[in-house]
Amino acid sequence: MNGSKVKIWKQDPSVESIGVRTAYINTEINSGPQDKDIVIKGMPLVQGNSNNDFLFDPVQNPIEFDAVHTFTVVRKVLTMYRRALNRNNVTQNFDWQWGPEPISVYPRAGIEANAYYSRGQKSLRFYYFHPGGNERANLVYTCQSFDIVSHEVGHAVLDSLKPGYWNSWHLQTGGLHESFGDLTTIFTMLSQLDQCEAIIAESKGDLHAKSFFPYVAEQFGEALGRSTGLRNADNNLKLSQVSNQVHDISRVFTGAVYDILADIFEDYHKPALYDQAETLLRVGKHMTSLVILALLNGPDRNATYRDIANKMIAIEPVPKWKEFISDQFERREVLGSSLSLTTEQPQALVWTKCCGSLHHHEHTDGVNKAISEEQKKQGKS
Ligand SMILES: [Zn+2]
Repeated sequence: MNGSKVKIWKQDPSVESIGVRTAYINTEINSGPQDKDIVIKGMPLVQGNSNNDFLFDPVQNPIEFDAVHTFTVVRKVLTMYRRALNRNNVTQNFDWQWGPEPISVYPRAGIEANAYYSRGQKSLRFYYFHPGGNERANLVYTCQSFDIVSHEVGHAVLDSLKPGYWNSWHLQTGGLHESFGDLTTIFTMLSQLDQCEAIIAESKGDLHAKSFFPYVAEQFGEALGRSTGLRNADNNLKLSQVSNQVHDISRVFTGAVYDILADIFEDYHKPALYDQAETLLRVGKHMTSLVILALLNGPDRNATYRDIANKMIAIEPVPKWKEFISDQFERREVLGSSLSLTTEQPQALVWTKCCGSLHHHEHTDGVNKAISEEQKKQGKS
């Protein structure tokens, strides 16, 4: 018998009427839960039943449920990217940034409004807190948020593919890291058929529909003072409209990728022939491959949006879709005549609104060192 059944939150538990669903993990899970890539820590050991299924009730067994839920979201993100690389014949073996030792995942790391990836601690840590500091309010567990967990795994995956981004001085490289977290949330949603069906139903097949956004307006992100995922993605920001705030500049890249996804979906969907949810799943896989391959083939340090946009255009096989990519990046002043050059100088970066991974001192220390080294270098030349 292969694989295990698990029960997870369909979306964030704060989003009404979503509830719990049963999902399937096709790879082997051991008690913990853990596997060769992921180990759940800081919780009592969770064991599967006689079929090695991990089916817990969120009310009766909240601790076991959270452990399995968090494990499953991390697993789904990893499996999605591994499949994208395998489909594209990338045979390179990607361990975590530190090697084959599994990442330690703490679903209930302590009381704090925070969640982060730490390279030094080889871990993902998800905290819990009283919203607004109100001790009478119910605790909010960040590990229960699909949005937050998948975003943080995105940082860990990008750090294993491109370790040099972690201490690059370039503002846009920081933007790529934060954007990749949000894109990971979007791609992981789109890798699940039931989510595609829900998105098509809520948006009525229009990925720019405004009525669609309340559906993914996760309250966890709001409680942490940031908005993440899809709601953050459908914007029209240009490079000249954002400052040195890394989160704001990340939205330019996320927005471009979201628009390209919407353009390709609009071109590719044929409701007379195929269910649009199926088409969205396919377009999601296409965009996942495009972004991960572009990053993989991009510069090892200080990658700019232009570097990655040009790789995406080179990798995209469909001529019309190449145009979608170049048009959207031109519109945002990443490519073309209105190219913004203001960010080519090393400058102090502002991490407000970014997640805990980029705020973490082991990340900011590395970036600040790279900034001062580059400033010295540019000052001398
Ligand atoms: Zn982040």
